[in-house]
Amino acid sequence: MALMTGEQYLESLRKLHPRIYMFGKQIPCAVDDPILRPSVNSVKMTYDLAQMPEYEALMTTTSNITGRKINRFCHIHQSTEDLMLKVKMQRLCGQKTAACFQRCVGMDAFNAVWSTAYEVDKAHGTSYFENFKKYMEYVQEEDLVVDGAMTDPKGDRGLAPHAQADGDLFLRVVERRPDGVVVRGAKAHQTGASNSHEILVMPTQAMKPDDKDYAIAFAVPIDAEGIFMIVGRQSCDTRKLEDGTLDRGNPTFGGMEALVIFDNVFVPNDRIFLNGESEYATMLVERFASYHRQSYGGCKVGVGDVLIGAAALAAEYNGAAKASHVKDKLIEMNHLNETLYSGGLACSANGWQTESGNYMVDTLLANVCKQNVTRFPYEIARLAEDLAGGIMVTCPSETDLRDPELGPYVEKYLKGVDSVPTINRLKIMRLIENMTLGTAAVGYRTESLHGAGSPQAQRIMISRQSDMNAKKDLAKSIVGIE
Ligand code: SF4
Ligand code: FE
Repeated sequence: MALMTGEQYLESLRKLHPRIYMFGKQIPCAVDDPILRPSVNSVKMTYDLAQMPEYEALMTTTSNITGRKINRFCHIHQSTEDLMLKVKMQRLCGQKTAACFQRCVGMDAFNAVWSTAYEVDKAHGTSYFENFKKYMEYVQEEDLVVDGAMTDPKGDRGLAPHAQADGDLFLRVVERRPDGVVVRGAKAHQTGASNSHEILVMPTQAMKPDDKDYAIAFAVPIDAEGIFMIVGRQSCDTRKLEDGTLDRGNPTFGGMEALVIFDNVFVPNDRIFLNGESEYATMLVERFASYHRQSYGGCKVGVGDVLIGAAALAAEYNGAAKASHVKDKLIEMNHLNETLYSGGLACSANGWQTESGNYMVDTLLANVCKQNVTRFPYEIARLAEDLAGGIMVTCPSETDLRDPELGPYVEKYLKGVDSVPTINRLKIMRLIENMTLGTAAVGYRTESLHGAGSPQAQRIMISRQSDMNAKKDLAKSIVGIE
C-alpha cells in the first residue's frame, strides 16, 4: 500500500482495539469519540496532504529501504535537504491544523533508533539494526502512525531508575525469556497515543550499568496485550461535547496526550532495538531529543502563523488595524515566529551524516532552536491576547448567541466594525482563546515549554556543545596571551 488515504487511516484505526480510558470509562474507538476525534483529524491531515499534487514533493519521498514512494513522516532522512523539507512539512501541517498533528514523535524516534542501533551493533555484535530495518519497512509499507515514547514518570528526580522506591517508575524489563522480554512501567505525556497504530519505546535518560534493565528500546502494536492508556485532560475539553462548534475555537482539529501504562507487556526478540547496552541510552536520548527540538522549529511556527493571522483579523474586526502600535505588534510576532523557523532550518542545513547513513541535525543549533521555542510562543500569545482585547475571554456562549431572546443583544453589542458579522468576530476571538488558553494551548503554549525537553535540558546541551575552551583561545590569541 505504502500510501494510505485519510479515509483508509480512519478505517485502519477502527480495526485496532487499544484500551483507552477517559473520565473513568473505556472508549471503544477514538475515531467516534467527540473529545478524541479532533486529534484523529489532525493526524488524518498528514495523510490527506500527501494525496494532494501541490504538496506531493513536501509530504512524500522515496524510501531508502524499498525505493518506493512513502509519506515523509515515515522517512529515514538521507540528506540535509531532507531535514529541511521535514521542517517545512511540519510548518505546513501546523498551518493546516492549528494544532499538534502528532506524527513527528514517531518520525524523530525512527531516525534516532536507526542510527543508534547501527552503532550498538558495531560495538556489541547485536542485530538491532536488522530488526529495526525490518520494522521500518513494515511501517513504511503500511504507512503507520507510530507513537514515539520516551518520557518515563521518573518518580524521585534525584534517584537513578534502579534506586527508586517503586522500580516501575521507569519502564523496565521484568522478565527475560528465550523468545523476548516482558516489560512493565509507563510513558507519560504520550502525544497521539489513542490514534496511533504502534508505540516505539526508548529509554528516557542516560543510564549506568546498574540501570541495564531500563536501557530498553522496542516497538509493539498500540493494542498489544497489557497496554492501556488514561487520557489527559485539556483546558476546555468538554466544550467538544456541547452543541455547536463556535466555543471550541478550532471546530475540527486538536491534539491529545495520555499516560500509557505497560502492565507486563511481552516484546518478541525481533521487535527489540536496545536491550541492556546502557552506555548507548545517552546517544539515543540525545539524538531523539535533538530531532524533536528541530521539529518545534517547524510545527510551532505553522501554528504561530495561524495565531498571527487571527490576531491581525481581530485587530481588523475591532477597527484598530491602522493603528501604528497594532502594525508594530504584528511585525514583532512575525519576527519572533520567523526566528523560530530560522533555528529549525539552520540545524537542518548544518546536519551531518551518521555512521548508519542517515542524517542527524546539528545538536547545538537544534537546542538553541528549542530554547527559543520555550520563550517566543509565550510572547506571541501575549501579543495576540493584547490585540484581541478582553472580549476573547468574556464573550457569551454560542447557546446565548443562538437564543431567540438573548441572541439579538449578543449580536448587537458584540459587533466591531459594521461590515463584519458579529459571528465572524466571535469565531476569531474563540480561536485565539483556544490557542492561548484552551485545548490547543497544550500544543502551542505549555508544550513549547516542556515538550521535547524542558528549558534546562536544552541549556545543559548548549553548555556541553559550546566549546568554551576554543572561545577562550580565540580571545587569548587576539590579545597575544600564550
Ligand atoms: Fe509534531 Fe509539534 Fe506535535 Fe511534537 S508538538 S508531535 S513536533 S506537531
Ligand atoms: Fe511534542
